[in-house]
Amino acid sequence: MLWNKVLRASARCGVRLQSSGAAAASVKTSTDHSAANGFSFEFTEQQREFQQLARKFAREEIIPYAADYDKNGEYPMPIIKKAWELGLMNSHIAEDYGGMGLSIFDNCLITEELAYGCTGVQTAIEANSLGQMPVIIAGNEEQKKKYLGRMTEEPLMCAYCVTEPGAGSDVAGVKTRAVKKGDEYVVNGQKMWITNGGKANWYFLLARTDSDPKCPTNKAFTGFILDADTPGVQPGRKEMNMGQRCSDTRGITFEDVRIPKENVLIGEGAGFKIAMGAFDKTRPPVAAGATGLAQRALDEATAYALERKTFGRVIAEHQAVAFLLAEMAMKVELARMAYQRSAWEVDRGRRNTYYASIAKAFAGDIANQVASDAVQIFGGNGFNSDYPVEKLMRDAKIYQIYEGTAQIQRLIISREHLAKAKK
Ligand SMILES: Cc1cc2nc3c(=O)[nH]c(=O)nc-3n(C[C@H](O)[C@H](O)[C@H](O)COP(=O)(O)OP(=O)(O)OC[C@H]3O[C@@H](n4cnc5c(N)ncnc54)[C@H](O)[C@@H]3O)c2cc1C
Repeated sequence: MLWNKVLRASARCGVRLQSSGAAAASVKTSTDHSAANGFSFEFTEQQREFQQLARKFAREEIIPYAADYDKNGEYPMPIIKKAWELGLMNSHIAEDYGGMGLSIFDNCLITEELAYGCTGVQTAIEANSLGQMPVIIAGNEEQKKKYLGRMTEEPLMCAYCVTEPGAGSDVAGVKTRAVKKGDEYVVNGQKMWITNGGKANWYFLLARTDSDPKCPTNKAFTGFILDADTPGVQPGRKEMNMGQRCSDTRGITFEDVRIPKENVLIGEGAGFKIAMGAFDKTRPPVAAGATGLAQRALDEATAYALERKTFGRVIAEHQAVAFLLAEMAMKVELARMAYQRSAWEVDRGRRNTYYASIAKAFAGDIANQVASDAVQIFGGNGFNSDYPVEKLMRDAKIYQIYEGTAQIQRLIISREHLAKAKK
């Protein structure tokens, strides 16, 4: 509780987020000193406090329980409740709605630390940010008060409901239909792979509202806020995934679900832009999560390499192992710089699509490489679930898949790059 006060007080004096509709938020963050002084890698005191709090939380409240949650697949609600009490989740919700209004950069610092503890827990928490982001960037005052405000009053979850069995990378292939009838929309369809799918209090839902196949993508879809207890919303079974097993991933069926027109974000046809626009603010934290996992893998491997002996010396003294550790360290440092740059850009109200995709793609890839190298350094023990690194290797894979696959990020980066070159 003491920490909570520190975090909230810090946030109040150092950070102001003016959330202003679909326009890029203009943010005065606690990193502003760096702008005044030119380039800087120094964190402010508040940022160090956020980081320390999240680090302490990961060490004391996540790491001791992570292996059990991984084995039994239970949703880590007790951990989430504690994180909520400490202000370690939903922290980007503006003060006007009861949140702390932290910048994406500050949020990323927290995310990296939570991910160091367990990325299953971090993903469950991060899915709230993903679900909330369309409301943050596109919600009107009433919608924000109602749906964001609720998240700060009690520990609730929400979800981002876009992917379908037949449409993942190709979001324009979404088939879920919303048909206007009077003051309501009636929704029918099916979503897949929805994080927090069975735990959410409300969803951001993307559905097609224009039945004309020739309608341009940026006009054919509408974004809705949907209360999870609305009749006709049917979450499926919890999926058993390769990693991040305590995170709740489900398919959801919508059968004649009625959504009031007040729950449309911006207006009919604006959904695709909102759904995609959210990623500029959520990909930096996803990259931060991947970095946290990679840092954990490096730390575990380093500690092991300094203890395990072969041929009369600790394995860290074999040059092949020392160089492997060096390669891992290089990757972790660069992934961190990439996510920090992408967060810093968007906090300044600048379009960061290029940097966000670079960070997400790079951090996702290196999390997989570094976790795999950590298993290698552990030798046979690395392959066994009594040691922490096999979980890291399983958990890492999803960073190359969700929030845009590794290939889709390259598609975006190449488009952005070539567009600049053609100017
Ligand atoms: C654990 C988990 C949690 C998730 N959470 C959510 C969530 O909360 N909300 C949500 O809406 N979705 C969520 N997803 C869905 C996720 O975003 C999609 O799985 C992802 O976008 C890929 O879509 P897909 O599975 O349909 O694969 P596909 O789109 O079918 O892709 C298959 C393969 O083809 C490649 N590919 C596809 N198109 C191209 C192209 N044009 N060029 C090059 N390669 C291409 C892909 O990179 C991939 O390797 C989650 C998924 C998982 C597994």
